[in-house]
Amino acid sequence: MSSVVIGDFAVSLIRHGVHWWDGGAFFGVVPKTLWSQKVQPDELNRIPVGFNCYLIHTGGHTILVETGAGDKLDERARERMKLAGRVEPLSEAIAREGFDPEAIDIVINSHLHFDHCGGNTVLSHGSARAAFPRARYLTARGEWEHAHERLLRDRVSYLNANYDPLVESGQMTLIDGDCEVVPGVRMRRAPGHNRDMMVITAESGGRTFCFLSDLVPTAAHVQPTWIPAFDLYPLEAIESRFQWLGAAAKGDWVCGFGHDSTVAFARITDDPKTHFSFVPL
Ligand SMILES: [Zn+2]
Repeated sequence: MSSVVIGDFAVSLIRHGVHWWDGGAFFGVVPKTLWSQKVQPDELNRIPVGFNCYLIHTGGHTILVETGAGDKLDERARERMKLAGRVEPLSEAIAREGFDPEAIDIVINSHLHFDHCGGNTVLSHGSARAAFPRARYLTARGEWEHAHERLLRDRVSYLNANYDPLVESGQMTLIDGDCEVVPGVRMRRAPGHNRDMMVITAESGGRTFCFLSDLVPTAAHVQPTWIPAFDLYPLEAIESRFQWLGAAAKGDWVCGFGHDSTVAFARITDDPKTHFSFVPL
C-alpha cells in the first residue's frame, strides 16, 4: 500500500529509488547472524535501502517530506551504492505516481544528510536552483549549523548545494525547536541519529501519521537497541526510540521509515521480547 488516509489528510510514499549500503553500518553492533535473518545482504554485504519521501495532502497544502539523494552524486558513489547512471528527477517520479509536483508548497527535510535533501535543488549550468520553485522549505537551524561545522566524523554526509542556495534566497526557513508547520503537521526534535534530526507527524481526525526518518531507518530497526553504526548518539537514539515507538504503539499511529526498501507504512506494536515489533499495512 503506498497511500493511506489519515482523517482529512492523505499520505503517499514516493520511494525515489533503492540503493545498496553496507549492512554492518546499518546494524552497528548487532551480529550479522541476527540481522541477516531480517534482510538479505548481497555478495558485498550490502542491503537494499530506499530513498523514502512522503507526500502529505492536507487539503490546503501539499507537503513533501524529504527529497531523496537527487542528481549530485558522482559516478563512483553511484556505483558503490549500486545505483543506475541516470537519475529520474524527483518531480517526474512524483508525477508518475499521479501527483502534481507543481502543487507542492512546502518541503520538509528531517535533517540535511545528502540522502534526505539531495533533491531539494537541481543543477543547471553549474549552479543549484530550487527543484520545487513554489515551495517553502523547512529544516532545523541546529542541523544546518552542524552541517557547516564539517566535522571529520560526518562531513561526507553534507553537500551545501542541497540547502545553502535556498537559505540564501530566503526560500528555506531554519526553524528553532519544535514547530507546527500547518495545522496538524509538526516537526519535532528526536536526537540520536544526530543532534537535531526531526520526526514529522501529521494528525487529523484523531489519527496520526509519523515519519520516523533515520531514528528508525527501516522496519528491522524497531528493536530499540538495533542502532546503526553511523548514529552519532546511540544512547540517545535508544531513548528517543522508546519515546516515539511507545507513542506510536499507544496511539495506533501509522508510521513511515526513512529507508525501508519494501515497507511503505506500518503500525507499531508492543512486543514482550523485543520491546516493539511492526505490522506492515
Ligand atoms: Zn538517511
